[in-house]
Formats: sequence, C-alpha cells, structure tokens
Amino acid sequence: MTKRRASGVLNDNPLASSAKFAWGEAFSLSDAQQRPLVIRAGLFYFPRMTTQPDRREPVAEASVALKRSLAGMTKAELSAALAEAGVPAAQNRMRVTQLWNWIYARGAQDFPDLTNIAKTLRADLDARFTLARPEIAAEQISEDGTRKWLLRLEPQRPGERAPEIETVYIPEPDRGTLCISSQVGCTLTCTFCHTGTQRLVRNLTPAEIIGQILVARDRIGDWPGASAPADGRGIPEAERKITNIVLMGMGEPLYNFENVKDAVAVASDPDALSFSKRRITLSTSGVVPMIERAGAEMGVMLAISLHAVRDELRDELVPINRKYPIAELLAACRAYPSLSNARRITFEYVMLKGVNDSVAEAKELVRLLAGIPAKINLIPFNPWPGTRYECSDWGQIERFADIVNRAGYASPIRTPRGRDIMAACGQLKSASEKLKASALRENTAASA
Ligand code: SAH
Ligand code: SF4
Repeated sequence: MTKRRASGVLNDNPLASSAKFAWGEAFSLSDAQQRPLVIRAGLFYFPRMTTQPDRREPVAEASVALKRSLAGMTKAELSAALAEAGVPAAQNRMRVTQLWNWIYARGAQDFPDLTNIAKTLRADLDARFTLARPEIAAEQISEDGTRKWLLRLEPQRPGERAPEIETVYIPEPDRGTLCISSQVGCTLTCTFCHTGTQRLVRNLTPAEIIGQILVARDRIGDWPGASAPADGRGIPEAERKITNIVLMGMGEPLYNFENVKDAVAVASDPDALSFSKRRITLSTSGVVPMIERAGAEMGVMLAISLHAVRDELRDELVPINRKYPIAELLAACRAYPSLSNARRITFEYVMLKGVNDSVAEAKELVRLLAGIPAKINLIPFNPWPGTRYECSDWGQIERFADIVNRAGYASPIRTPRGRDIMAACGQLKSASEKLKASALRENTAASA
C-alpha cells in the first residue's frame, strides 16, 4: 500500500514546535491554608505534601541552588550524583546499590532512615539532595476506589509555570493497575480524546515518570511494612497493591522514547521497583517507526490504539494514521518481538455510537488482525464536555464483542472506572481544568 502523507500537520519531532503552557496557575494558598483542605466529598487538596521545602519559590531567584531529588534517578544519574557528593570512585558502585535499594525497594523518604549508610555520608547527601517526589496538588478518590493524583512538577526554567500531570490507580480485588503519563499534554489530536485538545507542554523526564509510581506507592501504602490508607477504599488485599503499570495516561509515550525507556529500566529492575516487563504495557496511537525499537529496547507489552478498521475513518479519529496508515501499523505489530499467545498485543477500540461500532466493522477487525496474537479491548467511550461523540449502546458493544470473541480473540469490555472523578481513559485533561476552576473559586471566596 502506498504511504499517504498528511499535509504538514504531523511532525516527528513534536517538541520542535514552541508549545506553551496553556493552563492558568492552579491556585496559591496562604500559609494558614497549608494543610489538607477538604473541598468536597472525595476530593482533597494537599497543597504542599512533599517533605522538602517548597522549591518553586527559589526558581525566580536564579542565585539559589536547588536541591535535586535522588528519588527517580536512573542508575547512571545516581552514580554521577554520588561522585558529585564526593563519594570515592571505589565506593561508588556499592553506594549506588544501597541507595537503589532504599529508594526503590523500600520507599525511603528521609536520609536519616538509611541506616546502613554511614552517618557522615547521610549528612552529606542530605545537604545536597532530597528524596522528594513530585508534589501532590490534589488527590481524588472515586466511589469505585479509583484514585487520581494531580501532580505538580518542577518548572524547567526560571519563571516557567509548574506543569501538572495526572496519574490514576485502578484497584481490583486481586490486582491494582497504575496508569501513568508520559508527557504534559499531547501533540496528537485524536478527536475523541480530551487530552488531545490540550497542547503539548513538554516531555516528562525519567524521574517524573518514575515519580508517579513512587507517589502512588506512598499514598496507597505499597512499600514493605507500610499500611494502607485509612479510608482503605478498594485497596486489594494482595501483597503488592500495584501489580501492573500501563503507559496510558496523558501523552504519546513513543514521542518521549528515551525518557520512557529509562523509566521502564528502573520500573522493571528486580532490585528497584521490580515490575515484570510482562506487567508493563505501553499504549501507542501508532508511531510506527518507534514500535520496533520499543520491542527491541524496552521489551514491554504493547497496546495499540486502533479504534477504526478503515484508513478514512482512522485518519479522522487518530490523525497520526495519515502518516502511518493501518497496513503499516499492523505490519509493525506483526514484527513485534516475541509475540505468542502468552505475549499478545492489546488492540484498544473505543466504542463510538454510529461511528465505528457496526457489525461489519467487527468482522473487518477480525480479518485485519488475522495472524497477530491479539486481545481486543473494547473501551466504552468516556464522554467529556463539548465532545461530538456518544458511547455506543451496551447491546451494540456486546454484539461487537461477540463477533470478535467468536473469531477466537479475547474481547473484554473495559468497565469504565473513576468516571465520577473524571479519571477514566481520555478524560484526564478536563479533570485538571475543573479542579483549577473550583480551586480558584474557593480561593476567591476565601480571600473575599
Ligand atoms: N497516547 C497513547 C496512550 C494514552 S491514551 C495512546 O493513544 O495510545 C490511552 C487510551 O485511552 C488510548 O487507547 C486512547 O485512545 C483511549 N481514549 C482516549 N480518549 C478516550 C475516551 N474519551 N474514551 C475512551 N477511551 C479513550
Ligand atoms: Fe494523545 Fe493518546 Fe489522546 Fe491520541 S488518544 S490525543 S495519542 S493521549
């Protein structure tokens, strides 16, 4: 099939464009308000939850050196940081191993807790570094136990506003899935996705990607010896509260390849966060040239946001299709390393009423995927304000699932989770904006 090109709308280097941070500052609270503040049932603000001092204020004063956090660093970064702190080269490896274990296997948050490290070194490290995580700006808990954190990141330049991202935890009785973001916003503009209506602000660093896992583990008590949160809502009984990681939050992970790869290395290191690569799933809208590299260099499970079986429709729903059409995408899937029935590709298919949900399309889907070890995840469309789409009727979703299923593919219908806190797939942007609006209203009311 001949490759069809988009008319200049897509760019392989999305960050080349000067995307600006489009959101307003969320809220600023006076000292008297620096405590958890209940806004409404299930929604809590933790204005400054990190143990470190607020590091945003000194940003404006370039002369003040900021302490960097070791939590979230890759092994190479940690080694360089220790060398910088004066740890002799002969000890570097041993110290990296110790810190690696404290930070990622035990969840240490304070240097005095690092008991097998000499007191003097602890003090040196404390003077130069922190073990802080990204700051939690808000935490929401859904009626169904889904938890969502709005995380405020460090600005990368003096004067830059602190960008924010969202991370979602979806507990089930025997497992817990953490959905993490890879970018602030997204350059792609899938028409049914609210994140896609927000311009890309920037790629997340490896530390910011890993930081989301650390925050979630802190908040749900998923470290050895830690206790579950007092509300206990939905947290599984299992020894590990987070069993699976999915890169399905904000952003296109394959447009932030190197940083995602570094983060995956920490997440999957048995001496660090120790998630099996079979329990880490990367979802892509179809950045074909990077799919093979993801397989070879990351070795994670792959999910493809397919959503349509004809190029004409996919061009509209998932505009990256104009650059990498369905045939090329599926060829890249067929070439994905070590596929087998135990290692299948997940194809995500959002159910849009009257758009992509016909019986004929279900049959075409089966035909297209022939020969690919696959599972088809049918996602009921999660609406957001202003969208032109509606979710398919339940009966139609079941008919669709049935056809796919009879062809021998598992076709689970993804139960929408956390819709009441706008934490479901594709709803992430709106949540931030709603939070900001309500927080601003609260603030205005408080200061009036
Ligand atoms: N950018 C990546 C990963 C993040 S999106 C990707 O597109 O794959 C995670 C999944 O949610 C994707 O399959 C995406 O298509 C789907 N999604 C986006 N908006 C949605 C919505 N409103 N309802 C249901 N699923 C949605
Ligand atoms: Fe970006 Fe994925 Fe949303 Fe498309 S579906 S706009 S790629 S986050």
